[in-house]
Amino acid sequence: MATVKISKHITYKEGTHSNTATRRRMRNDPNEEELAAMKLVAKKIFEPLRIHFDAPIRIISFFRSAALNKTIGGSRTSQHCKGEAVDIEATGDITNKQLFDYIKDNLEFDQLIWEFGTSKNPDWIHVSFTSTKPNRKRILKAVKDGNPVYQVVEAGIEVEQPEEEGITKKKSKKGIVAVKTLLNVRKKPSTEAKMVGQLKNGKKIKIVGEENDWYNIKTSKYSGWVSAKYVKLYKKK
Ligand SMILES: [Zn+2]
Repeated sequence: MATVKISKHITYKEGTHSNTATRRRMRNDPNEEELAAMKLVAKKIFEPLRIHFDAPIRIISFFRSAALNKTIGGSRTSQHCKGEAVDIEATGDITNKQLFDYIKDNLEFDQLIWEFGTSKNPDWIHVSFTSTKPNRKRILKAVKDGNPVYQVVEAGIEVEQPEEEGITKKKSKKGIVAVKTLLNVRKKPSTEAKMVGQLKNGKKIKIVGEENDWYNIKTSKYSGWVSAKYVKLYKKK
């Protein structure tokens, strides 16, 4: 399985990587159908983008097994679990907005999500493609502190409630920072993202969202992303 490539520019490892899965020694291998769906996403969206911009595009998260998705608090209906969705981020001089706009204006897709960020640039992009039904061309925007978190920008060809992916729909949770030194708060859910602050051990935080192994948190001073492994959740009553 490990020698299978998803596409010219996506290795099997990139398509199935997850820090949570690695840490918990969970398998995250797509079955044949899911692998076929991933290849289609790559063919219809990733590779055309890659060719158009002629620059590497980072895959943040692609396939997530149902078990993995449950572990990270993702929606049960996430297209990531079917191999139909990928989270991507631009590299180099290309911006996420450029990727977003190109997909929006030139490619066929099911859902395209502007993930957080600002009005000028999203933190990352979620995009999906399906072969099991007509692609809806639905455009959503994920906003911090919003209710719902996902707002419909363009409803596409069907009108129904937006379905979330990746980020939990549940109400905010509370956690306590558990670190020996300081916990970095970052602008995006990535260790490469800009730091916006640091939290001390024992600091209480409000968790408003989750993506992969990161919590989107709020304190009186900061709002940003922290690595989930350094946060202990309050026990639910
Ligand atoms: Zn996603």
